[in-house]
Amino acid sequence: MNGTINPADIAIIGAGMAGASLAAEIGAAARVVLIEGEDQPGYHSTGRSAAFWSESYGGPAVQPLTTASFAYLAEQGVLSERRAVHLAGPSGSAAIEVLIRDYGAAVQLDRLDAEQMAALVPRLRGGRGGGLSEPSCKDIDVAGLHAHYLGRAKRTGVQLLTDARVSALRRNGDIWRIQTRAGAIDAPIVVNAAGAWASEIAAMAGAQPIVIQPYRRTVIQLEVDPPASSDMPLVMDADETFYFKPEAGGRIWLSPHDETLTTACDAAPEELDVAIAIDRFEKVVDWRVVRRERAWAGLRSFSPDRRPVYGFDHRAPGFFWFAGQGGFGIQTAPAAAMIGAALLLRRALPDAVRHIDTALYDPARFERS
Ligand SMILES: Cc1cc2nc3c(=O)[nH]c(=O)nc-3n(C[C@H](O)[C@H](O)[C@H](O)COP(=O)(O)OP(=O)(O)OC[C@H]3O[C@@H](n4cnc5c(N)ncnc54)[C@H](O)[C@@H]3O)c2cc1C
Repeated sequence: MNGTINPADIAIIGAGMAGASLAAEIGAAARVVLIEGEDQPGYHSTGRSAAFWSESYGGPAVQPLTTASFAYLAEQGVLSERRAVHLAGPSGSAAIEVLIRDYGAAVQLDRLDAEQMAALVPRLRGGRGGGLSEPSCKDIDVAGLHAHYLGRAKRTGVQLLTDARVSALRRNGDIWRIQTRAGAIDAPIVVNAAGAWASEIAAMAGAQPIVIQPYRRTVIQLEVDPPASSDMPLVMDADETFYFKPEAGGRIWLSPHDETLTTACDAAPEELDVAIAIDRFEKVVDWRVVRRERAWAGLRSFSPDRRPVYGFDHRAPGFFWFAGQGGFGIQTAPAAAMIGAALLLRRALPDAVRHIDTALYDPARFERS
């Protein structure tokens, strides 16, 4: 594409889960261009997740988004049964009590003693006491959900531009001129769904300088002996030093729960994080690690208070934030996109998210503090 696409009503920067889901929600109501810097959407965080839906993950302000997303995810057939088990740490159960305090009223969390724990987690070594069961936890078919949103967006007429990295934004009167590698686009509204690059995009627009900080997280696929049973739960250390779950072919997906401060980049795993993860895994279960088959890393990007940022900027006119999806951007995508669409189109919230207090996610909170 060369020259200018004119006119578009809304230009969304970033075609990961955030941008794709929002494009699908608004495509029927506006002329939308979805701009992606890579040659394939989903290359960054969206293509690297651990693919689970857990209502107790991400903080109490994220839980309503996760819970409200369930019906849509179930309807698309992208969820499958998993269950999570939260293991008390060797030093005691303080972290378990925090989970109950923060989520107990909204999420089913059943206390487990050491014996029940051993029945759920094969070859669990002793010394860790009990924990919690979270029966509602599911696996998500992330690629399926992303493809669903891209397909829905396309059917409503959204134009997807790939290989079109945005390099500059300029406001001329009521219109943004969006300069991309593939040409310029004019639109009165620009949406910042650029994941780890969200602060960079905001700086281009002279918007609020909200720091959306990327952190690297690593996942390793292991062949183990005996093979992992497919009905095993997602096992999470309540002290947040690892999690693992079964994968196809008896494999394990394991993460050291790392959270390494980084710049926005094409994240790659570091050997030390891989070694730490395997060491923690071998200390907690008595399984032989036969082979490390592959490892990858991705970026989880957070706002300063770790809540996502949805809403119009309070400095730059026509600049809309849809960023800071942290480690929960897949499991919250349906509710986030419904809220984002309502705010963007200045419509009432749909029933599925009407009870959610969207002020929690308003970029205005960072103007006040
Ligand atoms: C290891 C790991 C495990 C995770 N596990 C889970 C999980 O189990 N469940 C869950 O819900 N979430 C999980 N997450 C979080 C989830 O993956 C993210 O929250 C989600 O993918 C964020 O989506 P996004 O669209 O905001 O970002 P991205 O997928 O990174 O998309 C942003 C897009 O913007 C594009 N872009 C950036 N700058 C520009 C520019 N200048 N011009 C054009 N395009 C641009 C990028 O190329 C990119 O494609 C995990 C993340 C990681 C890393």
